[in-house]
Amino acid sequence: MTRRNFPALDWFRLVAAVLVVAIHTGPLSSFSPVADLWFTRVLARVAVPYFAMVSGYFLARQNWKGTGRLWRHTLVLYVLSVIAYLPLNIYAGNPVTWRNLIFNGTFYHLWYLPALLLALPLARALAKNGRWGLGIAGVLYLLGLGGDSYYGLAGRLPGLGILYEASFCFWDYTRNGLFFLPLFLLLGAAFAVRPLPAPRTSARLALVGLLAMTAEAFALHGLNLTRHDSMYLFLPLTMWGLFGLLLAANAGQDRAVRRTATLVYLVHPWCIVLVRGLARFFGLWGLLVENSAGHFAAVVPLSVALAFALQALAGARSRRLSPDVRAWREIDPDALRQNAAALRAALPEGCALMAVVKADAYGHGAILTARALAREGADLFAVACLSEGIALRKGGIRGKILILGWTDPAQAPLLRRWRLCATVADAEHGRTLSAQGVPLHVHLAVDTGMHRLGIPAEDTAQLAEMFALPNLHVDGVYSHLCTSDGDTSADRDFARRQTEIFAHTLAMLRGLGLDPGLTHLQASYGVLNPGCVQEQRFGAARLGLALYGVRSDSTSVESPLPLRPVLSLRARVAAVHQLRAGEGAGYGLAFTARRDTCLVVLAIGYADGLPRDYADKGGVVLLQGRRCPVVGRVCMDQMLVDATDLPQPPQAGQIATLIGVDGEETLRAEEVAEICGTITNELLSRLGPRLGLQVRER
Ligand SMILES: *Cc1c(COP(=O)(O)O)cnc(C)c1O
Repeated sequence: MTRRNFPALDWFRLVAAVLVVAIHTGPLSSFSPVADLWFTRVLARVAVPYFAMVSGYFLARQNWKGTGRLWRHTLVLYVLSVIAYLPLNIYAGNPVTWRNLIFNGTFYHLWYLPALLLALPLARALAKNGRWGLGIAGVLYLLGLGGDSYYGLAGRLPGLGILYEASFCFWDYTRNGLFFLPLFLLLGAAFAVRPLPAPRTSARLALVGLLAMTAEAFALHGLNLTRHDSMYLFLPLTMWGLFGLLLAANAGQDRAVRRTATLVYLVHPWCIVLVRGLARFFGLWGLLVENSAGHFAAVVPLSVALAFALQALAGARSRRLSPDVRAWREIDPDALRQNAAALRAALPEGCALMAVVKADAYGHGAILTARALAREGADLFAVACLSEGIALRKGGIRGKILILGWTDPAQAPLLRRWRLCATVADAEHGRTLSAQGVPLHVHLAVDTGMHRLGIPAEDTAQLAEMFALPNLHVDGVYSHLCTSDGDTSADRDFARRQTEIFAHTLAMLRGLGLDPGLTHLQASYGVLNPGCVQEQRFGAARLGLALYGVRSDSTSVESPLPLRPVLSLRARVAAVHQLRAGEGAGYGLAFTARRDTCLVVLAIGYADGLPRDYADKGGVVLLQGRRCPVVGRVCMDQMLVDATDLPQPPQAGQIATLIGVDGEETLRAEEVAEICGTITNELLSRLGPRLGLQVRER
């Protein structure tokens, strides 16, 4: 069993959803009330805490960054569910009150959604306080316990009695978002940060917990102490063991199963009503309603069927099919994260990483890349232009975003609306930006010798003037090195000279009492090339190429940093032809078969970013883990490959690799760029937007 094809956590959600159906149908009640009590009031009580634990676990793995998203998602589900159950509310003469909307849910099973809406922010706040937070959640649980299965004891205590009476003014039960869910969210979260207990230990804990819970439940019911029976003293222990066991099986995910589980949970009360209606209609009341097992056996498949039908309706299944399977970029998020970590570690103390995600993150997908980095704590991003900045904001990126290129001053309102920071390209640009009358955050570009953008470094007066402009707020000052990727001593000298000039300019500004804010000079090679920037500490480094784990070409500077390429480029075989010696192929018949040839047509062309004369340049692709030469003229959407030397005959649908690893063979981006007569920066940033973007699974 591999991690990928047995995602225990999600499959158990489906089991948990069926257990909830059992609670509401009592499958064993016709046969043995005692067995039914154990099954529905003890065993099935693991279901809801389990839902909360999985959520807590996955939230904590992302440092609780997804809490807002899950909250909104829950709210949408709740609103839809309230609407879906409205007919039943009306039929049952059960009016929808504010109290139920906010605290109890408008139908008996819907309490979980408003409870989660309350518990999520609470649990996140508690999680920030470590052990204390967990302790508080534990105390809340104990208080809730007293209002649930221990009510017969705790409700009599004077102080607690009043607490419970007050709480029952709002909630029907203490099994709610205040007393019940926070503990399980945090217990799930604890698994994200602690080493996993041995499966044997988890199994023992789960078993001991379940036995203790059984004894506890029968004692409490026997003594008639329960007000409600969803909370037990030993439930958290059982859950800890159970979750550890499932996590040890694996932490994989299966979104389809997860969605089905959620829907089964949400729709089963409707199915209970439907089964009753159908049973009456077909005269099967005895079998499908009075017989509890028959009832359960009818409700479960109907719920699952309805869950599938809803998903089909919502098109969720077709969305899982990707249209981008013709030719695509494959992104390895682990490599990206590791590169970011290695680069952060290499930067001096106090120097932040500004992630350069311009040009669709050099072909890696700007939003995907920025989100992956933001999840790891990155909060400084750089793009080349306004539209790229807005796209990031629309993609949910919240950190600072600096536009490195020129921005039309007339667009100042957009800069403000999307909270983007503009670069002042020169003094005149700064004045015009300010004259728009919109308060703006800017970084000043300083020209230290590249003569691209920037106010001349020696022109302190103009630099100072920018600080005084009424609508510009200078958040940073930066410059750019133009020879840091070189390895000659002249290159290094020039980079060092630029560094000195920049440092001197900053000192001058500070001497004038001006705060330059965030200072930054180095791009990737300024960090990778130890010869070029020494002893200079700036506030940030703007890193693009190095984040993506490539160098400009394979001759340039060796770096000891363990960077891994993030992107692979793949395309499908569209067709296979057998050519006889002498036959030609492609536009202009530019390819002529010198021998009997197996010709493969790949579904990728120059519109996807490869040069039209790739074959003449010596282009190769990997098929079946071997190198095959590109032949003929590359078309806009296809290219031809000579696959004659492959041991197995190629077939349509097979995957070819244009950049990346296939079996034993590797085509590094540096090598491909060299074949194309350029550097990886150009090759990658030219990869066309029509290429699909797939995230490599772990
Ligand atoms: C593109 C760019 C960078 C990033 O360069 P890399 O070599 O990819 O790290 C940094 N600064 C400026 C001004 C840029 O235009």
